Amino acid sequence: MQQGPRVAVIGLDCGTPQLLFDDLAAEVPNISKLMAEGMYGDLASITPPITVPAWACAMTGRTPGELGIYGFRNRKDTSYEGLSIAHSGSIGAPAVWDSLGAEGKSSLLIGVPPGFPPPKEFPGWRVGCFLTPPSAEHFAYPQGLEVEIEEELGGKGQYIFDITNFRKQGMDFVLDQVFKMTERRFKVARRLVKEKPWDFFMLVEMGMDRLHHVFWHYFDPKHPLYKPGNPFEDAFQRYYRSLDDEVGTLLELLPEDAITIVMSDHGARPMMGGICFNDWLIEQGYLVLKEPVRAVTPVARTAIDWGRTTAWGDGGYYGRLFLNVAGREPQGSIQPAEYETVRNELVTKLEAMPGPDGTVLGTKVHKPQDVYPEVKGVAPDLLVYFGDLEWRSVGSVGNPSVYTFENDIGPDGANHDRTGVFAMKGASGQPSGKVEGLSLVDVGPTILSLYGIESHGATSRSFL
Ligand SMILES: [Zn+2]
Repeated sequence: MQQGPRVAVIGLDCGTPQLLFDDLAAEVPNISKLMAEGMYGDLASITPPITVPAWACAMTGRTPGELGIYGFRNRKDTSYEGLSIAHSGSIGAPAVWDSLGAEGKSSLLIGVPPGFPPPKEFPGWRVGCFLTPPSAEHFAYPQGLEVEIEEELGGKGQYIFDITNFRKQGMDFVLDQVFKMTERRFKVARRLVKEKPWDFFMLVEMGMDRLHHVFWHYFDPKHPLYKPGNPFEDAFQRYYRSLDDEVGTLLELLPEDAITIVMSDHGARPMMGGICFNDWLIEQGYLVLKEPVRAVTPVARTAIDWGRTTAWGDGGYYGRLFLNVAGREPQGSIQPAEYETVRNELVTKLEAMPGPDGTVLGTKVHKPQDVYPEVKGVAPDLLVYFGDLEWRSVGSVGNPSVYTFENDIGPDGANHDRTGVFAMKGASGQPSGKVEGLSLVDVGPTILSLYGIESHGATSRSFL
């Protein structure tokens, strides 16, 4: 028998307050019951609200700046090529399970990003996350766990980490995969929560995120691409109900005294289109190519005239802007003394950028130094939310217009939004009902406080 408290977290990637608390509340009776019996509220995500680093920020109690991770891909140095993909070893601060492990407590993690490659040592059991390639030779710790999962599901490749190229697969196939992925992950989870003597359990399910990205415009009548009577009109309702069943059966298997949390890392909102960030920078004279491109080309494959370039951008759910600074970048063109002037000029221009109808898009721009207590690694010089995240950032150049309605890797119906969800029940003395002011980075310290452990070195704190 385990001694002391046990906390179980069910993470629903991209869980959105508007949908879970209001529009689709009727489809999620088990989650609604947990909310009614405990506390719940909107959860302010990090800047930027991106899966990696969001879960890591939640579980370490640190901002992206303190972790030096600003997205899936980060500049590893100030050269023009040095990009690295975030992985399980990128997190340089102790997570909840590290602090618990130091006290001799065991954790069971399933799908918590970044969870690939599997750790060499771990205080408990860990199954990889959506970053795990389908062909990965190893995906869990200890390795015996891989064999258990493969046998349980009837062979290699049956456990689905993520839907590969989900933006380019047929809609029927993607929807079927979303259901199968969730079903199989929860099947494995139900067995493991019963068999393994865990003190802390956490699962992150990606199905909701994939559903939102691919099917939002089939569901939301407010989306410009919505067509009434389309074949996927009830896909959200069907998936939410099925996911809620899985959550309900898993909650039933948890020990009676377990403290249970259902939460997300960020929300979602309808996406209107993409801003071709680098094409805009070229148009405005900040980015100069040695020769114009003839077709749509990834910016990394163009010949940039660095000596005459002031800034370049990167695509993604939000835009990352990098300045070309003398003494920092190899062929920097901005003198350090001019850095802040150039940066402020770009903030002004970006925030004034009009949309396709000529009215101001409502773009919000953040300087990392203003939003993080510390800025580690090579941060973007500006974090750009085009149309306050109604538009995503497209990195390629040579697009016919600055506005595109096809993202450079396939169409999306939704973009990430800055607010996720949090619900918790079973902690002694916790509040009940709707609670305001909850923040993602405070979740880790809150969980540790339930075990009587204080977090050190984090600026965030327990909200209990
Ligand atoms: Zn996410």
